[in-house]
Amino acid sequence: MTRATHTCTCGAVLRFKQDLEKERGGIVASWKCKDCGTPVPGMVAEKIKHQNPS
Ligand SMILES: [Zn+2]
Repeated sequence: MTRATHTCTCGAVLRFKQDLEKERGGIVASWKCKDCGTPVPGMVAEKIKHQNPS
């Protein structure tokens, strides 16, 4: 299975769900970089949030 990664504008490489911060409040959950709060594109976040370091 291919692992999705997302390189944030702050330079952080997001690989696992713990690298994301969930933003509540809308109908659809949105995801942000844990380090800087920049929104992560939904399609990428959907993949990353299913990934664990193990
Ligand atoms: Zn960031």
